[in-house]
Amino acid sequence: TSLHTFLGIDFGTSGARAIAISASGEIVAQASLPFPSVPSSALAEIWRDTLLALIAQIPAEIRQTLAAIALDGTSSTVLLCDDAGIPLAEPLLYNDARGAAMLDQVTAIAPPQHTVLSATSSLAKLLWLLSTLPLAQNAPPPHLLHQADWLAFLLHGRLGLSDYHNALKLGYDVGALRYPDWLLAANLPVQLPQINAPGTAIAPILPDLGDRLGIPATCQICAGTTDSIAAFLASGASTPGQAVTSLGSTLVLKLLSTVRVEDAASGIYSHRLGNLWLVGGASNTGGAVLRQFFSDAELAALSAQIDPSRPSPQDYYPLPKPGDRFPINDPNLPPCLEPRPDNPVEFLHGLLEGIARIEALGYRRLADLGATPLREVLTAGGGAQNEVWTNVRSRLLQVPVLPSPHTEAAYGTARLARAALQPDGDFGF
Ligand code: ADP
Repeated sequence: TSLHTFLGIDFGTSGARAIAISASGEIVAQASLPFPSVPSSALAEIWRDTLLALIAQIPAEIRQTLAAIALDGTSSTVLLCDDAGIPLAEPLLYNDARGAAMLDQVTAIAPPQHTVLSATSSLAKLLWLLSTLPLAQNAPPPHLLHQADWLAFLLHGRLGLSDYHNALKLGYDVGALRYPDWLLAANLPVQLPQINAPGTAIAPILPDLGDRLGIPATCQICAGTTDSIAAFLASGASTPGQAVTSLGSTLVLKLLSTVRVEDAASGIYSHRLGNLWLVGGASNTGGAVLRQFFSDAELAALSAQIDPSRPSPQDYYPLPKPGDRFPINDPNLPPCLEPRPDNPVEFLHGLLEGIARIEALGYRRLADLGATPLREVLTAGGGAQNEVWTNVRSRLLQVPVLPSPHTEAAYGTARLARAALQPDGDFGF
């Protein structure tokens, strides 16, 4: 009913956030907690404490109306646990590169150019974790879980479940919706999670926990997603050709497409989104380069003096250091920030236009690879507030460019929880 609310919980890089929405998508409560900068206890314990404290921060009158909860975690943050869900070692975080030591082994089992062939992939991390685990005689193989899987387990008590967003970098075949033969043939001494569609209602909250937190026993805990897909879902984009550009420290493109596109060499891959594909690519250009030259206040003041309808004569490729993967795949690509005009307004115009040209080139590259042509761009990140830049980008992209109505991953995950109970509603794909 319309009295129901839906909770999204985002475990990001620096902290966790929860957003509760009504059936119409209005935010009715939110809470956030940073992770301690110096971990005081085991990582998984911190996650569990943060999860429970975060839910407790949602007002009691909202908690008692919760119909569904979904969680997202950072992509390829993984842990091994036993049959009771107790972690067997410290989790490996998204950016932990210790899996580099296992790349020969990954290469030996995975097809060439596969997404798992990276030091930070879940599969490389799994192999590393297995290699460090003491061999217990006759112990059942451990469970591999992603951060969002383990946190959802704490709420619903079902072990060994994941979703096809989190499982992509484990090697799961999101086209065929099964583990590929090469991965099964490797016969790893581990229990791989069973994979659900993100947002699938898994089970009601554990009765004791529901009692303790004042959450109805009927509240469904749903299959989750990753933080970056959750941020895309927050935008509300739902038709092919709609895209979200994130203008943060780096430039990240995500396009909703009817066609799946992969190009491992340039870091382009597609996540499944129902019957559609979320095609993504990321460039090293972005706000970090702007920060090398200007404060945020200068960016706002100088931008206001730029005429966005006039192309800049500069032909920059702004990068913080040499090398880019997308849209130009060249690890040695030099930044181009010359010549530098004396007038800072003209210099900034060149930088904004240079980044916008890379964005336009990126979307063209995705279309060239067969993705649905661009129709509309929603913008997230620190650059989204810059109207002049928006106009420059719209001129180059030749489609409407709008701010994203919502950009918080927790909001996107709340939408996922809502979709779980309204299968024909919100997501529509
Ligand atoms: P991230 O989370 O990726 O670090 P944010 O989304 O917080 O980044 O965005 C920060 C970036 O936004 C900074 O790199 C900064 O250069 C850029 N930024 C801030 N204000 C403006 C502005 N008015 N115009 C363009 N870029 C801006």
